[in-house]
This record gives sequence, structure tokens and C-alpha cells, in this order.
Amino acid sequence: MDEALVIAGGGPAGTAAALTLARAGQSPLVIERGEAADEKLCGCFLSSETEAMLARLGVEADRLGASTIDRVRLVAAHRSAEVRLPFRARGLSRHRLDGALIEAAARAGARIVRETIVAVAETGGGGGEIETRGKGRLRASTLFLATGKHEVRGAARPVTEPCHNIGLKQMFALSPRQRERLAGAVELYLFDGGYAGLQLVENGRANFCLVIGDSAWRARGGAWDDLVRSLTDEMPMLKERLEGAEPLLARPLAVARIPYGFLHTPGSADGGVYRLGDQAAVIPSFSGDGMAIALHSGIAAADSFLAGSAAADYQMRLRRRLARQFAVAGGLHRLASTGPGRTGLVATARHWPLPMRWAASLTRLSG
Ligand SMILES: Cc1cc2nc3c(=O)[nH]c(=O)nc-3n(C[C@H](O)[C@H](O)[C@H](O)COP(=O)(O)OP(=O)(O)OC[C@H]3O[C@@H](n4cnc5c(N)ncnc54)[C@H](O)[C@@H]3O)c2cc1C
Repeated sequence: MDEALVIAGGGPAGTAAALTLARAGQSPLVIERGEAADEKLCGCFLSSETEAMLARLGVEADRLGASTIDRVRLVAAHRSAEVRLPFRARGLSRHRLDGALIEAAARAGARIVRETIVAVAETGGGGGEIETRGKGRLRASTLFLATGKHEVRGAARPVTEPCHNIGLKQMFALSPRQRERLAGAVELYLFDGGYAGLQLVENGRANFCLVIGDSAWRARGGAWDDLVRSLTDEMPMLKERLEGAEPLLARPLAVARIPYGFLHTPGSADGGVYRLGDQAAVIPSFSGDGMAIALHSGIAAADSFLAGSAAADYQMRLRRRLARQFAVAGGLHRLASTGPGRTGLVATARHWPLPMRWAASLTRLSG
């Protein structure tokens, strides 16, 4: 079977591309492995750029019940400091966000096929031969890879650096008192070898997501319960927040080997396909701007296709656009993972909030 435009993956990047193409009169086929929108490993922090791009795509964070966040609280051991964010952010579960995006893409005219896993048999000239588990083979004239954190068999990201980071997440119903204390803030808990983010999403639920190096993970017991116990012992504020909290996911979500800092360079081996979102660029989570990059890349790749320019040009423009943001986010990620760095970050936030506000602005997708 032949298809003109195939998008592998129906997350923020894939659906942003699908919406842009469908609104321009194309009929893209989105192939998504999930049976229905479900929760994903993510801090669920929507930066102001993310919210603005969603609105342009017809998805309103307000209508989805997103929480409002206007400050960041940095916590390391017994110390904490609060800084007002230089923008208004939102909190929204990925279940709700991804569901709304894929519905909007379908309404705009994209065709959605679910419960189907894409593997690539061959690429070339911007398209490829795809194997779909359960639905046979098809030939795409133009292929957009938007499978996020997950590698596509036959077209894995050419990551060269070793990746030692593990991501974990659970959602909680906090006690009413702790929910009230958390409202309006994203709390970043900094610890040796990693950091965790806690914030409210819609319906007053709390999203707790963390990233930890594999050696720190092993040192803290190598299991979710051991890790949470060791972090709450180390940080009294986290202990307070999670006291009496009910976990809402049947089990924590986990992803290993996150290739932070990966920025795709187009080359002859990639067959000229478009790589979007985390398949093109993986920013350290400390910045909370991965979804903005995913949406931007989806829109930019679709615009590039519609304008008749080559995938490699789009990919190089994206690299240039993200260079400064990646450098700052990478620096903050490294700083947060060391003892003196954590102390310095909390002290700076407490005594000189302005540099923290600049850092928060510099980790955003630039205009
Ligand atoms: C620990 C952590 C915390 C983060 N916190 C934040 C945050 O708070 N704010 C923020 O903006 N960003 C955050 N990010 C980054 C953000 O989650 C990603 O950048 C964003 O989800 C990328 O979107 P995407 O569409 O590229 O991929 P994804 O959101 O991963 O979507 C990919 C889609 O493809 C589907 N898929 C996968 N493989 C296949 C296949 N073979 N065939 C078909 N379908 C497939 C998946 O089911 C999924 O629906 C965080 C990342 C991590 C690791």
C-alpha cells in the first residue's frame, strides 16, 4: 500500500505536524502504538511557549482544566528558596493533553491508526518502507519520525554519548493541606545524582517525576519504594508533601537511557526523513521545555514539507534554533546534580532571584 505522508507517533510532535499538514489540505496518516491516550513519563509542566503553541493548534489549556504555576521552589536537603517565574506556566497531565491533541488532529482531517507499532524497513528520498505490526507493510513518500523517547526499530537515533539517566514518575492524590501548599508552584527537589519535580495538574492531582543517574539509582536501593523513602528521609519538605498521599497509577512509569543533549545532525544514513520532538532533540528535563520543542519541531517540519524544502534544511534550522537553550539547560542539569551546585542554586534563588529568573528565560525556546 502507498501513502503520501506518514507520521510515526501521536505525541505532541507527531500531532502538531499532523494538525499543520491537515489544516493545509493534506491527509496525513498518524500511526500510534497506544490503544488510547494514556499517562506518559513527563513532568507535565507546560511552559508559556507550550501553552501559546497549543492555543495556535486549537488546544486550550484552560478548557482542559490545567493548573496555573507562577513560581518555582528549589529544595535541597533542609534548605529551600522560592522564585517567581518570569512567565506563567501550567500543569496538565499527558493523558489529557495527548488525548486533546490527537482528537484535534483527527477533527482537522488527519487519519489516525491506533494500536499499531511502526518499524522501518528502509528509508530513502525522504520516505520509507514501513512495517506495521498487525497492519502489514506500507510505502510512505514522506516519513515523519515522532516516536519520542522510544526508538523505532530500523531507524534508531544516532546517539553517540553514553546515556546513564533514568526517568520515573508517579501521580498522587495529596492530602488537602499539602495540595494547598503546593498550589501555584513547581517544586524542584535536588539531590545527589538527580532531581525531582512535583506540581499539580488538572483536578488537583499531583505529578511527581524524577530523573536519576543509574549509579545514584543503584546507591538508593534500585527500587521505587526505596528511592522515595531515601528522598523523603533526606528532604523534609518532600516528606511532608507525600505524607498520606495516594498513588494514582497502578505502578510508576519508567524510561531508561535518556539521551539528554542529543541534537540530530542530518546525514546520508537517515534517508532524508523528518525527525521530530525527542527523535530530533532531547533537552535536559530541568528546563521543562521539551514539549515546546516537540510542538515547534512538528509545526516547523510540516511547514518545511509544505514549502517544498528538504528535511535536512529543516533539521539544520532546528539545531541552530536550539543551540543556546541546550547549552544553558545542560549547564543547569550538571549543576543540579552536584553538591556545591545544589547549594549554589538554592542560595542564588534565595538571595539573588534575578539570575534565576534569567536562567529560567534562557532555557525557553527562543523567539
Ligand atoms: C523525566 C522527564 C521529565 C520531563 N518533564 C517535562 C516537562 O515537565 N515539561 C516539558 O515540556 N517536557 C518535559 N519532558 C520532555 C517531554 O516529555 C518530551 O520532550 C516530549 O514528550 C516529546 O514529545 P514527542 O511527541 O517527541 O514524544 P512522546 O511524547 O514520547 O510521544 C511519542 C509517541 O509515539 C508513540 N510511539 C512510540 N514508539 C512508537 C512506534 N514504534 N510506533 C508507533 N507509535 C510509537 C508513543 O506511544 C507516543 O504516543 C520531560 C522528559 C523527561 C524524560
